Amino acid sequence: MICDNLSVSEKGHLLFAGQDTVEIAEKYGTPLYVLDEDKIREKCRAYKRAFARYFDERAIPLYASKANSFRRLYEIMTEEGMGIDVVSSGEIYTAYKAGFDLSKAYFHSNNKTDEDISFAMDHGVGCFVADNIEEVKAVETEASRRGIRQKMLLRLTPGIDPHSFEAVATGKVDSKFGTAIETGQALEITAETLKTEHIELMGFHCHVGSQVFTEDVFERAAVIMLEFAAEARDKLGFITRELDLGGGYGVRYVDSDPYLDIDTKVREVSQAVKGACRRLGLDLPEIHMEPGRSIVADAGLVLYTVGTVKKIPGYKNYVSVDGGMPDSPRYALYKSAYTIFVANKMKEPCTFKASVVGRCCESGDILQEDVMLPKSVGRYDTVALCTAGAYHYSMASRYNKIPIPATVMLRGGDESYIAVKGETLEDLIRNDL
Ligand SMILES: *Cc1c(COP(=O)(O)O)cnc(C)c1O
Repeated sequence: MICDNLSVSEKGHLLFAGQDTVEIAEKYGTPLYVLDEDKIREKCRAYKRAFARYFDERAIPLYASKANSFRRLYEIMTEEGMGIDVVSSGEIYTAYKAGFDLSKAYFHSNNKTDEDISFAMDHGVGCFVADNIEEVKAVETEASRRGIRQKMLLRLTPGIDPHSFEAVATGKVDSKFGTAIETGQALEITAETLKTEHIELMGFHCHVGSQVFTEDVFERAAVIMLEFAAEARDKLGFITRELDLGGGYGVRYVDSDPYLDIDTKVREVSQAVKGACRRLGLDLPEIHMEPGRSIVADAGLVLYTVGTVKKIPGYKNYVSVDGGMPDSPRYALYKSAYTIFVANKMKEPCTFKASVVGRCCESGDILQEDVMLPKSVGRYDTVALCTAGAYHYSMASRYNKIPIPATVMLRGGDESYIAVKGETLEDLIRNDL
């Protein structure tokens, strides 16, 4: 199995977090987002433990909200002692409503509006991560108006290609994100920021990409960032107090994806960081990373019910389910690989090749092409799309006026509860005048 929270029961049903997914689908209806609360907590603890062990007590992981964001999740992040990163007023508001201590929030995005900046300051967001010089100026203006000093990191691009896929590679020089070190602009923006009166520059941030498996990408990024920190010290007299190395560790969507051990990965980064600090004569800054996917992805799946099965002899077979790209857009967006099971037929051999598709009027509404399923797959079977805890609910749309499904949380081996209600038809027209 691609993740240790998946198994098969005597009956041949898919178990997730020890619970029967077919029964969960019956109880709550489909399509349904399902999250394994214990797994989320386990991942948070793995990061926290590794950070404390390999860096120091100042180093805390920041959960990247964009992977999945709703009130209950921020309560869990509070309980687990995590920091968060946020990229919009909407994420700030959701965390705020969950009672999350926003002084532990880092505010990203490459284009913060004046409203966002003001909203974040109103709610006491601890640290802004400025993407470019215009943002620095906008934050300075607002902080000055309020008579405060705003903590800030500068997002830099270390010029690294993480060899994941293009849509999620963000650390290259030509990226829309951050300010490039290579072009000299990073040093300029640092100098400019240091001239402001109402910004307290804490250090630097980078994020090289997502779903990254490539050896030593984070280590190389860390070294480049620390070399820049040394340059900023030598040329500007600036002492870097914080270094945020972003998110991006890959997770297993299919059997061929490797398994990354959080403890090992954090240890490797820490060795690179500490080695570079020694070599460059820098004190170890407060280190952060921003895991999103690797905290919630394999803690989630989407359950569907099969409708029609269409066989086109000599061509292709289609299995249609009662959801699709509105709840799970990643295949439509970038052809992401997934593992799909027929959850009530786990003991049958998979000899039927089919594409699993959604119900939207869009031929790109595909969950996965050419997967192997049991030959008897048919109406009312339950389908599970695995590793779907990240970038599903948070990317959901209401295309074709399809309501966004509920999120159910599982915990303790036998408990389940609704964390986000499924939208109703009435919700779809709530704002229509
Ligand atoms: C997307 C993103 C993350 C999280 O990436 P994952 O691949 O989900 O770990 C962290 N930081 C920033 C700035 C991001 O844009």
